[in-house]
Amino acid sequence: SRPGSTYLPPVKLEDHTRSARQSMVGLPTPQNPEGVEGIIGNTPLFKIKSLSEATGCTILAKAEFLNGAGGSPKDRVALNMIALAEEEGLLTPGRGDTIYEGTVGSTGISLATLARAKGYKAYICMPNDQSTEKSDLLHHLGAEVERVTPAPITSTEHFVNLARTRAKEHTASSKDESRGFFADQFESIANYKAHFQTTGPEIWQQTGGQLDAFIAGAGTGGTISGISLFLKHEMGMWGDLKVVLADPEGSGLYNKVKHGVMFSNTEKEGTRRRQQVDSIVEGIGINRLTENFEAGRELVDDAVKVTDLQAMQMARWLVEKDGIFVGSSSAVNCVAAVATAMNMPKGSRIVTILCDSGTRHLSKFWKKVGELGLEEEHGQTDLLKL
Ligand code: PMP
Repeated sequence: SRPGSTYLPPVKLEDHTRSARQSMVGLPTPQNPEGVEGIIGNTPLFKIKSLSEATGCTILAKAEFLNGAGGSPKDRVALNMIALAEEEGLLTPGRGDTIYEGTVGSTGISLATLARAKGYKAYICMPNDQSTEKSDLLHHLGAEVERVTPAPITSTEHFVNLARTRAKEHTASSKDESRGFFADQFESIANYKAHFQTTGPEIWQQTGGQLDAFIAGAGTGGTISGISLFLKHEMGMWGDLKVVLADPEGSGLYNKVKHGVMFSNTEKEGTRRRQQVDSIVEGIGINRLTENFEAGRELVDDAVKVTDLQAMQMARWLVEKDGIFVGSSSAVNCVAAVATAMNMPKGSRIVTILCDSGTRHLSKFWKKVGELGLEEEHGQTDLLKL
């Protein structure tokens, strides 16, 4: 007989099907979601065990990388921006319309995925210093990708300005009915509203309203604003909830939150280019105040500056201790969550966001993590000395 078979009583198929059928009696017919749109949102909130143990607080992470379409919180935003555009007649299925967007990747991936699902085309302008996984993925999703040299927002060559121009050009030169729609995630309020309407309420429900701090980085600012507005305004958490911005090197938002000013005397708003030289982190950190960040800025209580080295150490820590494999912005969020926890009473409950998977950052961020041999050089305790 097979080893161990004494522990396993033989199961007859007949018994199995009967009991399965019996257990279904009285259950409602399962409602399966429809299409990829149906598997966006309702992401799990789970406790990061190692960070909770190390800090004496409960650190909870919203697993946004599990969003079913494009694998990031931008699925929620893309869905909402498209819905609003359809409502306003800016996008119409079957007309051959193209969605244009300036993005460092995640929003483009979500838009390109949903464009496929809904019968639109997608045209994505993105900086050429972002990981190739993201542009490759966009290509396979059928989006047209224009990779551009990073430029200040004041330049017509900035990826956001270029996307706006391309959308206009499309509509102006269209020989059929088709139109170009510029999604405009940085300024469109459909962005933070998606988080106000879905991510915020989910966090409220999943914590039973028991949370003391919320930590997030900001690219467009939609995530931090939408969730903060819901929790503080809508649920009345005001002073009960500490909202902390997690900011990478090269970003001006930290100074804005801490000191009320974003730029030195010699710098004008938006004139600095972001990335390429500043930080290896993708998706967060910016040098201008967007409509979406402004919507919730007054609700941000504090900011934590996170270095690339800390982000890399954290990324490796999460894999080694917890088997959690994330991208750079998620690692930045976790560093700031730990820094916040160290300054809060033991037992505090802290929520942060895991934005996307490390598989999207293999060629850049994770390559660097591997090269640095951080394990030996920097002990794990460094992370807790923030
Ligand atoms: N993480 C990643 C990987 C992102 O692409 C983005 C969006 N650019 C963010 C975090 C930040 O989200 P938000 O735009 O809502 O501030």
